[in-house]
Amino acid sequence: MDTLFLDRDGVLNVRMPGEYVQHPDAFIPTPGLETALPMLAARFERIVVVTNQAGIGKGLMTLEDLDAVHQKLRDIAQASGGRLDAIYTCPHRSEAGCPCRKPATGMAWLALEQFPEIDFENSWMVGDSKSDMAFGQALGMRTVLINGKQEEVEELQKMHIHFRFGNLLDFARFIC
Ligand SMILES: [Mg+2]
Repeated sequence: MDTLFLDRDGVLNVRMPGEYVQHPDAFIPTPGLETALPMLAARFERIVVVTNQAGIGKGLMTLEDLDAVHQKLRDIAQASGGRLDAIYTCPHRSEAGCPCRKPATGMAWLALEQFPEIDFENSWMVGDSKSDMAFGQALGMRTVLINGKQEEVEELQKMHIHFRFGNLLDFARFIC
């Protein structure tokens, strides 16, 4: 079943380098998001968000803060006519050695548990960082880089990535 895995920061909302989105007010949708989401909802049978949020493990924000931010994301998706079937979060810091922090694939397996009809070979991973691309590659997904992180530009250039776009709307126009 065609499934879209979406990174959050830098794809759905404007990334704030070195900072965490701790409050709904700091969650700024990326340009064209409200147009892209309904197009993608029509194209993909499942759409899931997979996001690393180490600010929780670092004690900079709480799970309640995260819930408030994700409620805003869900509201935006619903108001646009789009659909997010699930949002998975890794709350751990990188040193924790957890199985869920991308590029580790734990969140994909959680998605498969919840939606057994997902198959990774018919899935797309869309993100802005090398950890997103490595996550998709490890699972045999098609990989899509959106507006690659400035600080990873050189490494991203060397990676085998299937498609590169400036924003999610350009990807939606391509795939639909
Ligand atoms: Mg990101």
